[in-house]
Amino acid sequence: MGDYKAFLTVPRKEAGYRPVHDRVHDFGEVEQTLYEGDRRQQASRCMDCGVPFCNWACPLGNRPPEWNDAVFRGDFSLAYRLLNSTNDFPEFTGRVCPALCEKACVLNLTLHEPTTNRENEAAITEIAFRENYVIPDCPERNGKRVAVIGSGPSGLSAANRLNRSGYEVTVFEKNGSPGGLLRYGIPNFKLNKSIVDRRISLMEKEGVRFRCGEPVSVDSLPEGFDAYVVATGTPVARDLDIPGRDLSGVHLALELLSDQNRVLGGEDLGEREQISCKGKNVLVIGGGDTGSDCIGTAHRQGCLSVTQIEIMPKPPVGPDDPANPWPMWPRTLRTSSSHEEGCVRRWNINTLRFLGEDGHLTGVEVQPINWEKDPSGGRPKMVPSGGKEVIKAEIVLLAMGFLRPVLPEVGENVFFAGDALSGASLVVRAMASGHKAAAEVDGFLSGTRR
Ligand SMILES: Cc1cc2nc3c(=O)[nH]c(=O)nc-3n(C[C@H](O)[C@H](O)[C@H](O)COP(=O)(O)OP(=O)(O)OC[C@H]3O[C@@H](n4cnc5c(N)ncnc54)[C@H](O)[C@@H]3O)c2cc1C
Ligand code: SF4
Repeated sequence: MGDYKAFLTVPRKEAGYRPVHDRVHDFGEVEQTLYEGDRRQQASRCMDCGVPFCNWACPLGNRPPEWNDAVFRGDFSLAYRLLNSTNDFPEFTGRVCPALCEKACVLNLTLHEPTTNRENEAAITEIAFRENYVIPDCPERNGKRVAVIGSGPSGLSAANRLNRSGYEVTVFEKNGSPGGLLRYGIPNFKLNKSIVDRRISLMEKEGVRFRCGEPVSVDSLPEGFDAYVVATGTPVARDLDIPGRDLSGVHLALELLSDQNRVLGGEDLGEREQISCKGKNVLVIGGGDTGSDCIGTAHRQGCLSVTQIEIMPKPPVGPDDPANPWPMWPRTLRTSSSHEEGCVRRWNINTLRFLGEDGHLTGVEVQPINWEKDPSGGRPKMVPSGGKEVIKAEIVLLAMGFLRPVLPEVGENVFFAGDALSGASLVVRAMASGHKAAAEVDGFLSGTRR
């Protein structure tokens, strides 16, 4: 620990976002970076606590006190090695992780000014690539072959770990390019796809083979492999089966988001027109992160207005909620960069039907509701709390989460990872699950499984 009093004298400083008027006209990353001097000062705030709750909260078991100290001392090469020892792709988590570690930081307990771990992570990684500290690592091969099905963060981290342990790894991906939701879900304004390409290119140099455009069924896995990791994500989005669902203009959120990412990536959509919010009033159904990504995308496409509705109550406005104390993840209201760009947000709203003319959506009938507690301890009951109303909308985006896949019966050499195993989650959790699957494969193939 370099500066043992810095947390008392240096306030938390975030790099912040580009100004709204500037960023809403392009799909470039919205987040800015600090100067190196400021970054080192931010790292100096880490107190190297006796019990590092940040390490406990991070699904990857990252060790912020160690790399924060290296950053404070200006040794970015060491910082990257420390960070990369637990985190295979810190350039992804440094951009899109909700920073579970920061919520558990001791400086969040009283000051609500935790260390800027996530940003520090991104800065360490960008400097490491810039200064060529990141070089291909090609281990000796052990003669065994593993197939990874799916190239999202869980498949990539399983492939990376296994490759570095000497296995010959082939990744099968049904899409035209690897990355899963990193490429076809998360918008470019949060994660530029050159960052994904850079990592894929490094993995290829290290020997991982990518076979894109090749869907693989778990029922007929490709022959010639000693083990398999199935990391196929959660492909089925939750739908809303109410009158008017078949009107033109009602879409699943991922249809909008993946179209936009494909177009920005230069992919051809064929005969199909890109789903677009240009010149339309947009209604996003679902108050979570995917909904927020739709809002940012709608603005960049030139929408007229955006409203986001959520059936659940408004979460408490932080920072403290006695029912949900530190160091747990705070279930408080989150306002994203996309919300800041302009959006009406409403909670406790039920959607009744989609309305249209000549097959095209014109509005959505909704009703305010309340959730009444069940005295016998059962699920709360939804009761109307106001009259029906119509929200004008020419496009609706359904962002209500994904169905948890049912795991099929498989042989003992098949392992599952990421969202396919746990249901829709986070990049950092998917990566941690990929690590675990790789360790299971290694234990199985090397005969050291306990
Ligand atoms: C719009 C959106 C935004 C998000 N934003 C964030 C965020 O900001 N921060 C965060 O932490 N998390 C975010 N998430 C969640 C995060 O992206 C996922 O939890 C994570 O990508 C899951 O990783 P995965 O590898 O398990 O699955 P995925 O990323 O879904 O990858 C699965 C891959 O398997 C492929 N596949 C599927 N079936 C087959 C088959 N039969 N054969 C071959 N390949 C197949 C798919 O094409 C895909 O490439 C977001 C999710 C969405 C939908
Ligand atoms: S991956 Fe996320 S939770 Fe883990 S140290 Fe980085 S920002 Fe924190």
